[in-house]
This record gives sequence, structure tokens and C-alpha cells, in this order.
Amino acid sequence: MTLQQRVTCLTTAVVIILGLILILFINLIAPIFTTQEVGIPDTYILTNTINAQGTSVTLTVETPGPEGYTIFNETGLKSAEPLAVVKILSIIGFVIIAGLAILASKWIARKTLEPVQKISTIAQQISARNLDKRLNYQGAPDEVKMLADAFDLMLQRLQLNFKDQSEFVSNLAHELRTPLTSLRMNLEVLNSDPQATLKDYQDFSETAERSLSRLERLVEDLLLLAKAEKEIDYHRIVLGVMFEDILEELEPIAAQDNINLKMSGELDLEVLGDPVLLHRVFENLIENGIHYNHPGGFVEIACSKKSSEIVVEIRDNGSGISEKQRGHIFERFYRGDAYKKNDKGKGLGLAITAHIINLHNGKIEVDSSLGNGSVFRICFQAI
Ligand code: ADP
Repeated sequence: MTLQQRVTCLTTAVVIILGLILILFINLIAPIFTTQEVGIPDTYILTNTINAQGTSVTLTVETPGPEGYTIFNETGLKSAEPLAVVKILSIIGFVIIAGLAILASKWIARKTLEPVQKISTIAQQISARNLDKRLNYQGAPDEVKMLADAFDLMLQRLQLNFKDQSEFVSNLAHELRTPLTSLRMNLEVLNSDPQATLKDYQDFSETAERSLSRLERLVEDLLLLAKAEKEIDYHRIVLGVMFEDILEELEPIAAQDNINLKMSGELDLEVLGDPVLLHRVFENLIENGIHYNHPGGFVEIACSKKSSEIVVEIRDNGSGISEKQRGHIFERFYRGDAYKKNDKGKGLGLAITAHIINLHNGKIEVDSSLGNGSVFRICFQAI
């Protein structure tokens, strides 16, 4: 049943019920008032009436009736005749009103829902190819206008999202193509050189390994993004325990660059989150602190509780981030000037980090100045 049919049925039903109530009122209540209003009728037909001689007769008498007559039973009350007419008229009226109610309800429903029909016609024409189309509904500021405006806003968000997605796919294709092309070209050069030595093959194998590990990392990041999009497996996580695991993994890399890793603050604090995703978040941030640093530098993880929030700060005294770059570092595939030091990254780390923190209803912010290091601050709701 369409909305229009439902509105028609509902309004018709309401009118019919009200009509029935009116008729009931007329037929049941009205006679009482009618009798009271009319008072004692002018003429009575008196049956079973005893006359002065004690004989039972039927008489028509004038009000108040002759003296000496006792009224036993009243029938054929004269005032009942107009009531019968009222009854018939009310039934005819009801039938007419019901018919009119159906027609009027249909018209009202059609008129009210006309804009909705227009909206649905335009909506049916919109596809991924013409997401720039809008309803631009120019009606009175009512519920329909609210619906149409909300629809336009939704289209705008979808259009941005689609644009973002297609940019992402083309960036991704580029990131995948570069190492693959370099692998293929190196292999071609090597194969076409009859004098290629074992050393050449060893060099190629090293380059190939680096390219493959970059590709592997990229695919891992993408899988993580896809997982984060789908499900969050909430657990209570003791911060200190998670950071110990991460530092153990990153210690060898930090040692290579002579970077000191340390933890401070309330390490027994707990947060509610997905252990795999949060592990990746902090691994990214600490790894960045190591990579964008100088030998002898440090990366510190500090945990604290501030009123209803649990705050984790990843501080480093590395290269720092300029104000201009700070506006972009959370964008996918964005890499700042310092990136060359981190040839493993692909500019996805902070985008993934911010996305995961968002999914956990947390906040991430950065304080940094060029040459003085950076502080990445993450806030979670306390549990
Ligand atoms: P990647 O490290 O792969 O380049 P990220 O998304 O992790 O990608 O970081 C984006 C950019 O932000 C980096 O290229 C770098 O310029 C900058 N950046 C991130 N963390 C730091 C940091 N701790 N210190 C200085 N620069 C940083």
C-alpha cells in the first residue's frame, strides 16, 4: 500500500467514524432532548384507556386531555415523526459525507505527497556518475523541505567520499606500480646483460627484497584499514603491557639509529579498544618518532589520566614538523620533507592512525615545531 493510499484510507476512516458518532448521537441522545424541548405533545393516541364508566377505549385527545381519563400507555407520540425523518436524513447525509470524504482524502493525500513524489523521481535519476545533481527543492520551509535539504547534504557527502575514494585508488595504483616497475626494469637489465656477475645478482636481490617489503607493508596497511572499517574487537587494554610489547619490537630499529626509547607516567591505566588496531596506532607513532629523529635522540611514551580522559603522549626530540606540513600529515599518502629517512613508509601511517583513533571515539592532536621535536597526543574516554 502506498503512502498516498494509506493517508487516503486514514482520513476517510476518521471522517466515517466521526460521521457514525454523529449519527449515533442524533439517534440515541436527540430523542431525549427532543421530548424535553417539545414538552407534552399536542395530541395523544391513548390506548387501553379507561373511560369514566370503567370501559377500555382508544382515543385521540388534545393536551392536557379531558378530565377523568387515565393514561395507561402512550404510543404514536406525534413528535416522533420528525425524528424518523431526521434518522433517514442523517443516514443519507452520512452516505454522501462518506463519499465526499473519500474524494477529499484522496485529493489531500495527493497534494501533500506531490513533493515527495518529485523528490523520488529525481532521486531515481541519481547514480555514481552524476552525484553532482541536487534536488534544490524550493518549497515552503516544512518537513518535505527538511527532507529534501537533508537529501542534498547526503549527496554532497557521498560526492566528496567518492572523490576521496577515487583519489585513494589512483594514489594506491601509483604506489603499487612504482616498486613493481623498478623490479621489472632491474630484472630486464640483468637478464639482458650476458656479463652479469654474481655480485650484480646479489645487488638486485637486495633491491628486490626492499621493494617487496615496501609492497608488503602497503598491503598490510590496506588490510588494516579494511579491517578497521568493518569491525572493532573491544577489549580492556593495559597501556603499559601494550607499550612493552611495541618497544620490544622496535628496540632493534631504535638501537640502529641510537635512539633511546622510554616510558613514563601511569602505565597501569586501561583503555577500551581493539588490541590489534591500537597496537598498530602506537607502533606507527613510535616508529615515526624513531625515523624522524637524529642519532642520540629519544622517543618517550607518557600515560596520564585527566578527569574523564586517558591521555597518551608520544614525544620525540627529532626533526619536528613545520606548521604548513602539520595541516597535511593526516592525509593519505602525504609525506613531509623528512620522509626520505623513512623509506619503509608510504605516507599512510598517520592517516591510518587518525582513522583508528576516530573509530575508537578518541582524539589525536599534534604539537610540533621544526627542529624541536613533536608531541602526538591521543585521548581516550576513561573506563
Ligand atoms: P610516512 O612516515 O610513511 O611518510 P606518515 O603518515 O606516518 O607517513 O607520516 C606522514 C608525514 O608526517 C611523514 O612523511 C613526515 O614528514 C611527518 N611526520 C610524521 N611523524 C613525524 C615525527 N614524529 N616527526 C617529524 N615528522 C613526522
